[in-house]
Order: sequence, then C-alpha cells, then structure tokens
Amino acid sequence: MERLTSPPRLMIVSDLDHTMVDHHDSENLSLLRFNSLWEHAYRHDSFLVFSTGRSPTLYKELRKEKPLLTPDITIMSVGTEITYGDSMVPDHGWVDTLNNKWDLGIVKEEACKFPELKLQAETEQRPHKVSFYVDKSKAQEVTKELSQRFEKRGLDVKIIYSGGMDLDILPQGAGKGQALAYLLKKLKTEGKLPVNTLACGDSGNDAELFSIPDVYGVMVSNAQEELLKWHAENAKDNPKVIHAKERCASGIIEAIGHFKLGPNLSPRDVSDFLECKTENVNPGHEVVKFFLFYERWRRGEVENCEAYTASLKASCHPSGVFVHPSGAEKSLRDTIDELRKCYGDKQGKKFRVWADQVLATDTTPGTWIVKLDKWEQNGEERRCCTTTVKFTSKEGEGLVWEHVQQTWSKESEVKDDSSWII
Ligand SMILES: [Mg+2]
Repeated sequence: MERLTSPPRLMIVSDLDHTMVDHHDSENLSLLRFNSLWEHAYRHDSFLVFSTGRSPTLYKELRKEKPLLTPDITIMSVGTEITYGDSMVPDHGWVDTLNNKWDLGIVKEEACKFPELKLQAETEQRPHKVSFYVDKSKAQEVTKELSQRFEKRGLDVKIIYSGGMDLDILPQGAGKGQALAYLLKKLKTEGKLPVNTLACGDSGNDAELFSIPDVYGVMVSNAQEELLKWHAENAKDNPKVIHAKERCASGIIEAIGHFKLGPNLSPRDVSDFLECKTENVNPGHEVVKFFLFYERWRRGEVENCEAYTASLKASCHPSGVFVHPSGAEKSLRDTIDELRKCYGDKQGKKFRVWADQVLATDTTPGTWIVKLDKWEQNGEERRCCTTTVKFTSKEGEGLVWEHVQQTWSKESEVKDDSSWII
C-alpha cells in the first residue's frame, strides 16, 4: 500500500471464482481483457483487491492455473485473512479483532454433532473459519440449529451458506463485508480512502460486500440465485448496485463504464494500435500495448505487418540494446527484424501474453524506467520475466525505446530458453 502516496482513484474489490475468473472460459479472454485494462489505465494510481472464500493454499493454486494479476491486497478465507502486497504480509490488527467471542475448539465440537455436515479439506480449515459441505435441502435447518447451540456456548459466530454447497462458520465480526469495512477504515486513517470503490461478486458470501456504504457494486451476469434473491430482498432500489449483462471480468468492465469510474476500453478491444498512436504519451501504456501486439504477432492476428514493424523500428533508438534473459545481448532493431520470422508461429495454439505490476517512474526529465512482470503462456507452460524498459522522449516527439532487459522471475524455472523471443 506504500506504493501510493495519495488516495487511490479506484479500488476494485473482487471475488475470484466465477467473478474475476470464468471457469467456463478456457481461453480466459474476459480475465485477459480486464488485466490489460487494469495495467494500462489503473495500476499506477489505483488498488486491486481480491476477496475470496479460498484459503491461502487454494488461492495460490488458482494463481498458478489462471492469468491473475498480483493484487495490492488479498482478503482470503471468506474475509478472515487480510494480507498486503506480493509477499502477502498479514494484517495482525484484523486477527485481534476476530478473536472476540470466538473459540475454534467449541465450533468444531458442536458442528461435528451434525451428520449432514461434511468437513471440507484440511487446507480450508483456518484459525477463524471452519468449513463444511452441506446439501442445499438441509442448509437452512442446520444453520438455524447450529446458531442456537453456539449462542448457548457463549460464542458470537456467523454462518454463511454459499455456492449452493459451502457452509462456513466464522467469527461474527468476520466476512467479506466486515473485512472491506475494516480495510476502508484503515485506509481512511492513513489518508488513502479510495475516491471510488467497486465491489464485484457472484454468490452468497459476496452479498456483504454490497452492503457497505458508499461502495458501488456489480453482480456479474452469471451471479447465483442466492445472491440475486438477496438483492431482490435487500438492495433492489439501490442504484449503486447493478446486475451486469456480461459474465465475470467482462461484467466488471461493464460496471466501470456504467458507473463512470474511469476508462473502460481494454487495449484488447482495440484492433489497430497504429490508429491510436497519438495518445501514447505514457510509457506504461506503451509497454502494455507492445506485449499485446507481440501476442497477436505470434498468433498471426496483425494486419498491416509491414507498417507495424516499420513503426516499431522507428521508435527504437539506433543503438538500443535488448538483453535476453539468457544474458545474450542484441540490438533492439535486430530484435524487431527477428520478430518477422516468427509471425503466426503460434497460430491456432494456446499462446497468450500479459503484463503484471506495470510501474513507470521518471528518473530524470525526459527519461522513464518501466518495470513489469511479463508473462507468457505457451500451451500448458507458463513463464515470467521481470522486464525493465528505459524510454526517452524529446519535446513534441514520441517515446523512444532505449534499453530492454529481462531476467527470469523466481517462479520460472527454465531449462530451455530458446523459445523465448522478447
Ligand atoms: Mg464466487
């Protein structure tokens, strides 16, 4: 959170499964659309928050499977764990809050008396969350009975039924909504209360997110019956909450447009970058667009190939250098020439490229350093390179690529680096 010194322009707080991530979209197109928009228009001055029912273990598994960006803040285990940054530093203040009238031993002891409840995997049992599966037909009755028993034992707990099968028992003060309220209060104390906050969800445990005052909300088009029912009963007349027409991450983009929270045109929706060249004054934008171009190039989806390569070459400094992650160096212009040879070599294949954590800093007037993680999905294999680009710009002229350096990130164990071009 130290990345920003002033209040974020937008904070998106999104659920993951069936909201940010569409499990029916094997190409992950809506997620990739969102990623490009976020890195292009929001990363530099906004916060991305993931709020998921998943435990840290299952959250990390999802990040390996899907092209998820790195969030600024992660709220996991149905709002019982809040962590910050890439290294996921836990919020100890939140842990103290949750200990009020909570006893894990008593919760387990009482819940185990119900044969209808089937305990979920060990990784999903957390210090402030006990999770079961229960049949839809039994859920209401069990919830009622359990609540009475906990009350008798002096506990103050919350029972959430979600996704038509998951039953989570949490401290009363926990949940996605309470975690968001805590976070907003904390940000306000630090002078970083977001200008706008947009909550995004699809199921029962997301309903709380839409009850926090001054927060915009989107239920994605594929939202579950339980959430739509909650909305009809509790928030039907709230103009700040919409049911999107589009699925998952595309529904989030739709809501950004609907509530006028900022730009909502993803670079992935622009077919010809040459046409919007004049607005390219931000070096971060330039890099996001370049890697999108690179994906399309290898997929054989670029028209005007000659015009593109000529324009790219013209924007590279004549003595500019590209340092490949293997350590090999070559001129930037030669690298562009080499690109010609691999036009369309990934046509019809599973090949995607996305940028994560794009950060541009202007070191001296007219010079920028852009740092990012460049990801490449090639069939079932995924690799990441930490990429640093130096740009210069003279008054009234476009940006010039001066130097590009890549190093393998620690997640990418690479035995053969010959297929990595840029
Ligand atoms: Mg969900």
